[in-house]
Amino acid sequence: MEEIIKGLANKAFKAKKENTAYFKRLKKRAPKNIDYIVQDLHDKEFEKTDCLTCANCCKTTSPMFFHKDIERAAKFLRIKEQKFMDTYLERDEDDCYVLKSAPCTFLDENDNTCMIYEARPKACAEYPHTNRKKFTQLTDLTMKNAEICPAASNIIDALKLAVPMNNESTSEKFRKYR
Ligand code: SF4
Ligand code: SF4
Repeated sequence: MEEIIKGLANKAFKAKKENTAYFKRLKKRAPKNIDYIVQDLHDKEFEKTDCLTCANCCKTTSPMFFHKDIERAAKFLRIKEQKFMDTYLERDEDDCYVLKSAPCTFLDENDNTCMIYEARPKACAEYPHTNRKKFTQLTDLTMKNAEICPAASNIIDALKLAVPMNNESTSEKFRKYR
């Protein structure tokens, strides 16, 4: 896994032009069941990808903490919300609450578990967002996440095979997903 993670940024950089063009075409010609297709690819990917062998998202990026996230995490840790914010969070350039440090303070680097798993932010629970609705509105985010998330990177690769975007008629190709 370590080698795969190391190569992700380079892989994303090399594929950026092709993927940008692919998603541009996909936005124009996406089959009606595109969310179903991507969710299926997401489920298949996470059947084989064990996040506990990776945790690269927790090591390199911060989730955004909204009020509900702060409330839940503070309650879980049995501390006041203000104390939680003062201790762990800062505001980023968009004025959103993010973690002060990376890797995440709540990551146990011995086994890659999350110490506040049951109360983790929604952004962590949903990461890398490849099973959310309206996937075609999330393609820039998915390309960005593919720079650090091997699963997101694999899902893009699988999507390009499952829904090729070229000049051929697409109807035949999508039949198996209907
Ligand atoms: S969501 Fe992606 S980056 Fe995060 S631990 Fe799982 S595979 Fe790794
Ligand atoms: S709160 Fe938990 S899941 Fe979220 S980044 Fe930190 S360790 Fe990872």
